[in-house]
Amino acid sequence: MTAYTVYLEQLHAMLAAWSKEHQVYVPTAVEGGYFDFKPWREGVEIAFDYDLAYNTLKRYFLPPKEDLVVFDLAAKTAEMVFDAPKQLLFGVHPYDIRGINQLDQIMETGAPDQYYLHRRDATVVFGLTPMRVAETAFWSSMGAGEVDRGFDLFWTKTGPSTFLVEVGSMRGEKMLLAAGELTPASAGAREAARKAHLKIMEMGRSNALNFDWKQVPRLLDKCWNSPLWQKKAELCLACGSCNLVCPTCYCFDIREEADELLQKGVRFREWDGCMLTSFALVAGEHNFRAKALERYRHRYMRKGKYIYDRYGELGCIGCGRCVRACTTNIANPREVFNTLWEASQHED
Ligand code: SF4
Ligand code: SF4
Repeated sequence: MTAYTVYLEQLHAMLAAWSKEHQVYVPTAVEGGYFDFKPWREGVEIAFDYDLAYNTLKRYFLPPKEDLVVFDLAAKTAEMVFDAPKQLLFGVHPYDIRGINQLDQIMETGAPDQYYLHRRDATVVFGLTPMRVAETAFWSSMGAGEVDRGFDLFWTKTGPSTFLVEVGSMRGEKMLLAAGELTPASAGAREAARKAHLKIMEMGRSNALNFDWKQVPRLLDKCWNSPLWQKKAELCLACGSCNLVCPTCYCFDIREEADELLQKGVRFREWDGCMLTSFALVAGEHNFRAKALERYRHRYMRKGKYIYDRYGELGCIGCGRCVRACTTNIANPREVFNTLWEASQHED
């Protein structure tokens, strides 16, 4: 992969140039000791060593609420609304890029989701090797610690003021070189980046799945009747927070609003979540996952089996956001999978 060395003092001018054409978002410190992506402007301090972005980055491709169609019955018109601003996400960790790659695959399959794909095409992604691991995260044991696609550039801090920048697309390289030539990365710089990656993977192993993540689907196959589902589900508040913060949850509800004369209106979609009691409510007041146990189990089957069966990878990238979001402390996939694994070792 082509790579260049970039110095911190060069980055500021680059950000200023990129922000002329794109809304640039960067990781920054926010209240409560957390981090989140915020718009970049002069004076904003980039948290290169952030551990986890509090909110999922899916909001840049699949906003919490999005208009789809505006209609006018009198004029007999209906127009699709494509709002896809040019945006640049600078500093996305590998596991979150994996989450985006999974959404790309899902949204392109079957009837392609044109709204998502328009936003995705308009979004430049610059990856960043993590320097810290959130205490709730377990991505290094979920096969999500590295990524080889889905980014335009990938940055690794190799010294106090130096980066190794790998090229992931022609678009990324053009943006990187727009201000002038850069030094191609030396063998030493590549080695420093490799060591930075190994170091963070090692740090991640302190909070890990106790077995190979590829075993998760087969494990869940055997655990449909585990007593764990009921035990955990008894504490579930059906708040849906674990769905909303998850980078790979993408379910939405479509609704319409019209003016008082029922002439003009808009069809829009909003995030939905399988942990909400109304999610599976259909006509006739029938709810096909009415029990907390059914909803709770479904979430883990979805993360650990159903997505794998269809796409060949887990629906959980181990970011740990759901662990942080759950007020009753039951939404921890690592803990659930480890507990099921442990129990399975004592079965015949
Ligand atoms: S299930 Fe939890 S840990 Fe896994 S990707 Fe979703 S939010 Fe992250
Ligand atoms: S965040 Fe926790 S309490 Fe809320 S729906 Fe998810 S598992 Fe249930």
